[in-house]
Amino acid sequence: MFDRVIEVINSCSTFLITSHARPDGDALGSGLAIYHLLRGMGKDAVIYNQDTTPAVYEFLPGSRNIIHSMNSVNGFDAAFVLDCSEIERVGDEKDRIGSIKHIVNIDHHASVGTFSDILLVDCTASSTGEIIHRLLKYMGVAISVNIATNLYTAILTDTGSFRYSNTGSKTLMAAADLVENGADCRYIAEMIYETRSAVQIRLMGNTMDTLELFEGGTVGFICITQKMLRKEGALPEHTEGFVDIVRSIQGVEIAVCCYEVSRDRFKISLRSKGKVNVEQVARKLGGGGHANASACRIEGNFKTVKENVLGAIKEVSITR
Ligand code: 5GP
Ligand code: MN
Repeated sequence: MFDRVIEVINSCSTFLITSHARPDGDALGSGLAIYHLLRGMGKDAVIYNQDTTPAVYEFLPGSRNIIHSMNSVNGFDAAFVLDCSEIERVGDEKDRIGSIKHIVNIDHHASVGTFSDILLVDCTASSTGEIIHRLLKYMGVAISVNIATNLYTAILTDTGSFRYSNTGSKTLMAAADLVENGADCRYIAEMIYETRSAVQIRLMGNTMDTLELFEGGTVGFICITQKMLRKEGALPEHTEGFVDIVRSIQGVEIAVCCYEVSRDRFKISLRSKGKVNVEQVARKLGGGGHANASACRIEGNFKTVKENVLGAIKEVSITR
């Protein structure tokens, strides 16, 4: 499969690079690594994401070049769609992006169907960034500091700082190689984990006040409303990582964060310590993800949504 990706890179000259809306470190780091690779090869590359880059990722080399509107651009030879199991995840521009002649999909999620002609998927990889690192090694190209910083960030964030079970020996070897090529671990860790705003910490405090425990303390549940965001002057991106704090509670096997996107529309983030597959829970509710980190979107009033989520968790836990 690497060969087909390389063939597209060599035979095409204009590229669109994109990933899922509300991008995370893997989506951004992977996209920017491909961006630097293509630019370095003298190719014409545009990097697009529907949503703006969360402030913590603004340090990523090239992040200022990410565009958020596709109005002025068309006529790409090929598109890289990264970290997306479905084309819908790129957001509103899915049809225009989906109609680009060659689509290369690099991903580490379990996908149901396929939307691309060139598929580079490995569900055992920690991150899309790890797969891209493998591609670069296969190509034998030099890994610049810009590429190394982006890919290291992709791997670091998708493994929860090398704590999750998706961290394999290959992951650590890839990270080591990226450090060898100039990724600065201390600087990157500080940029991502030690640049929180006071607003975010206050929102975190309010959010943790909503904590409820169910199923004998094995399910931790928090919620965040738009009212809470308004009260602190917080942004949606400030909620990043809250659900992981709930998982860190002793005895909690599954953590749930119920985020009110707008009136009667909720985004549910699920995290597991490993005993229960929360991808199955999310799938029951129309979403997806991984065994230990998944998400879905549900419409309805808070009470019904909560009941649905807790019901789905119970069903999956019983049948496992
Ligand atoms: P998060 O809670 O961090 O937003 O998402 C956790 C994981 O769930 C992500 O890594 C991603 O794999 C998956 N995910 C998030 N949102 C969606 C969604 O709307 N649909 C699907 N299929 N997966 C999602
Ligand atoms: Mn990822």
